[in-house]
Amino acid sequence: MKTEFNAVVSQKITISSSLMILQIVPVGWELPEFKPGQFTMLALPVTSPVVPEAESPEGGDENVWIRRPYSATSARDQKDYIEFYIRLVYSGELTPRLFALNTGDQLYMFPKLRGILTMDDVEEDKNIIFIATGTGLAPYMSMIRSGILCRDKRKIAIIHGALNSGDLGFRAELEHLEKLCDNFSYIPVISHQDTEKIPWGGKTGFVQNIWNENVIDDIWQNDVTPENTAVFLCGHPEMIRQMTDLLGAGGFKPYDRKKGGSLFYEDW
Ligand SMILES: Cc1cc2nc3c(=O)[nH]c(=O)nc-3n(C[C@H](O)[C@H](O)[C@H](O)COP(=O)(O)OP(=O)(O)OC[C@H]3O[C@@H](n4cnc5c(N)ncnc54)[C@H](O)[C@@H]3O)c2cc1C
Repeated sequence: MKTEFNAVVSQKITISSSLMILQIVPVGWELPEFKPGQFTMLALPVTSPVVPEAESPEGGDENVWIRRPYSATSARDQKDYIEFYIRLVYSGELTPRLFALNTGDQLYMFPKLRGILTMDDVEEDKNIIFIATGTGLAPYMSMIRSGILCRDKRKIAIIHGALNSGDLGFRAELEHLEKLCDNFSYIPVISHQDTEKIPWGGKTGFVQNIWNENVIDDIWQNDVTPENTAVFLCGHPEMIRQMTDLLGAGGFKPYDRKKGGSLFYEDW
């Protein structure tokens, strides 16, 4: 498929200096059906402007486009726009260009979504724990917004790790859901409490520590086991590595189509 401008930024929401929510509207085509948790490709020409704080150089061959995968955060039935949660990588090629976009600016979006980090293989009677660092929250936002929450008998928890409280994208929405839905728990965790400028009474450390403290067992008042719970991991590769070790010690096995399993993950 030819890479050319085919979409436009409809809204850009700044979470912090290095985090944004970007809503995109297709121009001349319809957003495709997708499964919550899936990703598509966004692209810009290498000649697009970069944000001033970028470490990567500006300019290049106008025929060269930079493409990267991003997970949708919007609900599958949100047909007006598709949304993404994106971190600025200062040394990166595409994100310094994406962060320079404003409402009305054009970009390319591959008009299909794909990926296997979905709810398809989770047994319906299992509780679910979504664990994320940073923008790893993105696929879970789509799953939750697509309607698995209050209508669901099972219990659902999100453990979201961020550097500081100002980096907790979607916090207000998730706190609101927690108030509305008895079966939903939101546990934000910040790792850089030493640089926290705002009083923080919540959890601190890494999401791995939260797991070791059996926080979810306490909230749910039952033991979390591979038989009663599916665990999703998304985000920083080191978090995924440490969490798969921890979960493995507790009997959680990565999902395999033939053998089953209660652990689902995607690292970026
Ligand atoms: C399936 C999938 C889904 C993804 N979904 C999202 C998403 O929803 N939101 C999102 O922000 N990113 C997501 N990513 C990551 C994204 O595709 C890019 O890798 C990221 O935005 C960096 O792109 P870049 O061109 O700016 O940097 P690049 O030029 O690709 O990378 C520059 C360097 O930065 C490193 N790097 C890459 N990402 C990070 C990071 N987050 N923090 C620090 N260093 C990094 C790379 O390893 C590389 O060494 C996803 C990746 C995959 C594989």
